[in-house]
Amino acid sequence: MLKTKGYAAQVAKAPLAPYSFERRELRDHDVLVDIQYCGVCHSDIHQARDEWGGSIFPMVPGHEITGIVARVGSQVTKFKVGDRVGVGVYVDSCRECEECKSGLEQYCDRLAQTYNSHELDGTPTLGGYADKIVVNEDFVLDIPENLPLNATAPLLCAGITLYSPLVHWGAGPGKKVAVVGLGGLGHMGVKLAHALGAEVTVLSQSMKKQADAARLGADHYYSTADPETFTKLRRHFDLIMNTVSAPLDWNAYLQLLKVDGTMVMVGLPDRDIPVGAGSLIPSRRSLAGSMVGSLKEMQEMLDFCGKHDIVSDIEMINIQDVNAAYERVIRSDVKYRFVIDMASLK
Ligand code: NAP
Ligand code: ZN
Ligand code: ZN
Repeated sequence: MLKTKGYAAQVAKAPLAPYSFERRELRDHDVLVDIQYCGVCHSDIHQARDEWGGSIFPMVPGHEITGIVARVGSQVTKFKVGDRVGVGVYVDSCRECEECKSGLEQYCDRLAQTYNSHELDGTPTLGGYADKIVVNEDFVLDIPENLPLNATAPLLCAGITLYSPLVHWGAGPGKKVAVVGLGGLGHMGVKLAHALGAEVTVLSQSMKKQADAARLGADHYYSTADPETFTKLRRHFDLIMNTVSAPLDWNAYLQLLKVDGTMVMVGLPDRDIPVGAGSLIPSRRSLAGSMVGSLKEMQEMLDFCGKHDIVSDIEMINIQDVNAAYERVIRSDVKYRFVIDMASLK
């Protein structure tokens, strides 16, 4: 077994604290990643505080991992020692079900998420707020040479979570796309939708992030605190990417869709929100959801970002500051993703 240092929550809502544990010895197809950086996703906070229910403790959060391959199993063909790699939201899937066979492994019923989940053999998974991780080579991604490992870490969750639905629902030239919530996911949504050629509008709680939104690639910006926003933009968008982590009145946002428009939920609040059929029927609208993306899409997204020089806007922190960072994420006070420098663990 491999001695590993990390940070964990021992029970729901407990502050994260130093935690020593063991990773498995490498199997034939495993890669040992020396973790250099890990992004702080709002999902880490939801789960460490058990806001979705069913959290498994002790919990080492973290699923926006970048690092260097330190060792490979005897049968590994995809990677060699020294390669720059990433690991995202899941580390294995059953490989047998319809979803796995059709390249939609993120929707596998037995998906092994990177933490707060179980490996296929039942072992609890522990995430990327740690100095190393052992992952099957099929679930490890290649990082393009021109992208820095720290600002690339958030692409492994925030990036793919926006890229996959933007591509699936055809964001591109001639399409009007709204991004609701300019946080970790939202700011990647703006960069990616802009690079895909769509006309991008940010809908934020206040006007405070207007200049940032323009710099990130947004064409328009409105405050949702102003009721006029909802009359002005009625039936305006082809696609709305809702990244908000808190409960909102979805009915009000659905009114902003054109005929045949779609609002995709990627934000996952801790409460159910009632939606009226009357919000959908008059304009044949769709309300949809989407979870991260497939392995194929993840590599495609990383290569797209390499080509367009897209990374996350980050604030680097030491692991000792992670609890304070959580509080700032909750206050929507981060520009636009915290990334932990794992050298601070040593
Ligand atoms: P984040 O950085 O905290 O961003 C969320 C943004 O939502 C904030 O920046 C804020 O934007 C807005 N917001 C927050 N509280 C609000 C409130 N009370 N009312 C209105 N707007 C509010 O979080 P994130 O890491 O981007 O994650 C966002 C959500 O996506 C979380 O629920 C997370 O669990 C979920 N998620 C889902 C997937 C998936 O696969 N579907 C993947 C990763 C994360 P403004 O200040 O601009 O209003
Ligand atoms: Zn995430
Ligand atoms: Zn499966």
